[in-house]
Amino acid sequence: MNCKNHPQLEALGTCVGCGTFFCGSCLLEVGRKHYCKDCSADLLRKQEQEASPRQQIVITQQASQQVSPPSGPTRSTKSRMTAAFLALFLGGLGIHHFYLGNGGTGFLYFIFSWTLIPAILGLIDAISLFTMSEEKFHLKYRYR
Ligand SMILES: [Zn+2]
Ligand SMILES: [Zn+2]
Repeated sequence: MNCKNHPQLEALGTCVGCGTFFCGSCLLEVGRKHYCKDCSADLLRKQEQEASPRQQIVITQQASQQVSPPSGPTRSTKSRMTAAFLALFLGGLGIHHFYLGNGGTGFLYFIFSWTLIPAILGLIDAISLFTMSEEKFHLKYRYR
């Protein structure tokens, strides 16, 4: 016997549904049984109709694992360490004051930078920023 669809090809098996001989490429394996394309399509349609009422029971697994963001509202947008390093390296120019929103103080540092006093003050600022608690930093600079 040859395949019903391919007369030049030898049939490898029969369709369980309609009993017709088909070649390997025409037969589809459904549940360890061989079906032709038409029968397998019918079979799948039947399976879908049977399964549909069960599928309507939707399991509402709400992935409500609300991971709180690491940066809460209390966290300052300004970084204490950034300010401290700015004070350390560019304190003489008052850059850290500009960073922290104290433009006026920063400007004074800047115009007196030639006296080197702002450099010393910047160093003191750097030390105080390095040693300052995160909480105090927030209170002092957060709302500027
Ligand atoms: Zn068939
Ligand atoms: Zn065939």
